[in-house]
Amino acid sequence: MKKILLDYDFNQLKNYLLEIGEKSFRAKQIFCDLHLNKSINDITVLPKNLREKLLDEFVDLPVKIIKTLKSGDGTEKFLFSLYDGNVVEGVLMKYKYGYTLCVSTQVGCRMGCKFCASGLNGLIRNLSAGEMLGEVVAVNSYLSGGLKDKRKVINVVLMGSGEPLDNYDNTVKFIKLMADENGINISPRNVSLSTSGLVNKMYDLANEDLPINLTVSLHSPFDEKRLEIMPVAKKYSIKEILGACDNYFNKTKRRYIFEYVLIKGQSATKECANELIKILKGKPCHVNLIRLNEVKENNLSGISDKEAYVFLGLLEKGGLSATLRRRMGADIDGACGQLRQRYIEEMEN
Ligand code: SAH
Ligand code: SF4
Repeated sequence: MKKILLDYDFNQLKNYLLEIGEKSFRAKQIFCDLHLNKSINDITVLPKNLREKLLDEFVDLPVKIIKTLKSGDGTEKFLFSLYDGNVVEGVLMKYKYGYTLCVSTQVGCRMGCKFCASGLNGLIRNLSAGEMLGEVVAVNSYLSGGLKDKRKVINVVLMGSGEPLDNYDNTVKFIKLMADENGINISPRNVSLSTSGLVNKMYDLANEDLPINLTVSLHSPFDEKRLEIMPVAKKYSIKEILGACDNYFNKTKRRYIFEYVLIKGQSATKECANELIKILKGKPCHVNLIRLNEVKENNLSGISDKEAYVFLGLLEKGGLSATLRRRMGADIDGACGQLRQRYIEEMEN
């Protein structure tokens, strides 16, 4: 099977070139051009025989944009095809200071959260580090961005399909690849990783010495209620999650964020707000309230904007730092996994 050249870090690329009898200065040319999303054929500074050798051994452009959908609010959704025909999605959000890209880390997900479209068919496979990087460089090039300070994608969030900490090694490698000064050079400080709360991996992450932003999908302050919507709650209690968050803060000195989806009669009750205040008050954290993107495959409902602001008010009054995330891309199946699900259904019909 062909390999993926974007999986190689700078040193691996250099060593590979030396192994096949090439000069190591070629590494910089290849690394830069791959981070510019160039086809191997288009790296014309390379002699033709080297290009041919690379094309024999590696997949050319392993991640391709096959569909884009623009939302009325400027959010843009991408469907990427992978070398084996699988598809994943990404969402691009435009802020005042630049673009933030949300990337997928797995095809599907095995965590099975009830409200999420990504987990409907379980996990299909992990993405490699180079495939995750492929999503970033494909969109950066789509925006006519370059490398380093010429890049257009400024921030990356790992909130597309998949549980990044269930694909730990590839995810950490991806973050390091993005940070390489020879390539697109996105600093870990501009990367946010969202997890459903895989406690043991959260401890590992704290030891990586990567200053990324940690986000945890909490979605309920009560273990039993959380278990109703998140099977992973069977494995790790909220107390254990909070312990791992404290450890993350102690090690990295970085504030962490809780994601909290507002589900009618489930997570959006007054009791939940009060309990959240009780367990989170005084912690170096921020709560990001999210409106539920209703997925037709389940029967969960969201709450009205008015009710969402009441919930937010309760948290703020209780002394928590909290915001209600602006609704983005709701008209283009903005939620995690929804577009891919729609695409698969269309292909089957
Ligand atoms: N697996 C990771 C990251 C990907 S999901 C995680 O669960 O954190 C990114 C975020 O989208 C999570 O907070 C997740 O709970 C949320 N999400 C998933 N489905 C959603 C939906 N239908 N509506 C709103 N948010 C959703
Ligand atoms: Fe997986 Fe995250 Fe979706 Fe849960 S919310 S099924 S962990 S992608």
